[in-house]
Amino acid sequence: MTEFDPHNTIESKDKDLDGIIRPQELEDFTGQKEIVSNLNIYIKAAKMRGEALDHVLFHGPPGLGKTTLAHIIANEMGVNMKITSGPVLDKPGDLAGLLTSLETGDVLFIDEIHRLSPEVEEYLYSAMEDYVIDIMIDKGPGARSVRISLNPFTLVGATTRSGLLTAPLRERFGITCPLEYYDTSELIRIVKRSSRILKVTIDDEASREIALRSRGTPRIANALLKRVRDFAQVMGDGHIDLDIARYALNKLKIYTRGLDSIDNKILRTIISTFKGGPVGANTIATAISEDQGTFEEVYEPFLIKEGFIVRTQRGRIATEMAYKHLGMEAELEANKTENGTLF
Ligand code: ADP
Repeated sequence: MTEFDPHNTIESKDKDLDGIIRPQELEDFTGQKEIVSNLNIYIKAAKMRGEALDHVLFHGPPGLGKTTLAHIIANEMGVNMKITSGPVLDKPGDLAGLLTSLETGDVLFIDEIHRLSPEVEEYLYSAMEDYVIDIMIDKGPGARSVRISLNPFTLVGATTRSGLLTAPLRERFGITCPLEYYDTSELIRIVKRSSRILKVTIDDEASREIALRSRGTPRIANALLKRVRDFAQVMGDGHIDLDIARYALNKLKIYTRGLDSIDNKILRTIISTFKGGPVGANTIATAISEDQGTFEEVYEPFLIKEGFIVRTQRGRIATEMAYKHLGMEAELEANKTENGTLF
């Protein structure tokens, strides 16, 4: 059996289901309490004033609800949303076309906004600040720029890599929301809510088991639920109890605590190649063929939050829990003797 990749699954056949499960209103959205309560106020205030909501930037690891919140904003504001992404918008003309098609108050959602080309980004500045764009007409000596006014709109940007955003772009967002990993009780609520929507019955222990293995991420929790549901349907009567949940999750090779194969590769690299650390982020990133920013912003936060690695001034160190998680107790003893810097 190939290793389960929840992101992949969602991209393909589960897309329709994903649309049904996605919360539509702030009230339905579990977790991220502070963000939700602030957005609630900002949305109400903008509506009372009859204005477009200020531009919003969501940042945080994949699958935590950035796109969902963008949909919710448009929904709660009662406006339409156009969706695009940084790499797709490669010419200023594409952006101009989108911007001029927006009606008053509409939302333009740009996913992976850190991947906009500098040229396109430049165009966004005046659009965001003054709702105008300057378009160049003709080339050479006859070239001139024409100013076009836009309807007031809300730009919602999402990024997993806020560190890559330029300062001028970041400063033009009036509302910035950093999304955090979800705790187990929040994930349990999400799993239960999704099961109700999917019309599948599930025991409390089974919801908990799925939540625990979801890497703090609603997208993974939903993807696991759907696959466990398949096992329950074919091997049982459709009801999900703890036994079938465990059986399915083990079959799917979902490791306890929900670590994925890259998490495990990172831990194994620190332990085997670098004798448990301390080792610099750049060195780890090179060893696993990732760039340092992705390591630091996408993978590392979860491993630190869950206590698998600690960050010290001299670099990252694998904790005892990491060795035990990988069944590398022998290395634990060897590294302890050698560098004595274990946690
Ligand atoms: P991102 O844009 O951050 O990668 P998404 O907004 O696409 O993540 O969310 C991924 C999936 O997780 C969606 O199917 C959505 O239904 C679900 N999801 C995300 N956040 C929540 C939440 N707080 N409550 C319930 N479901 C959520």
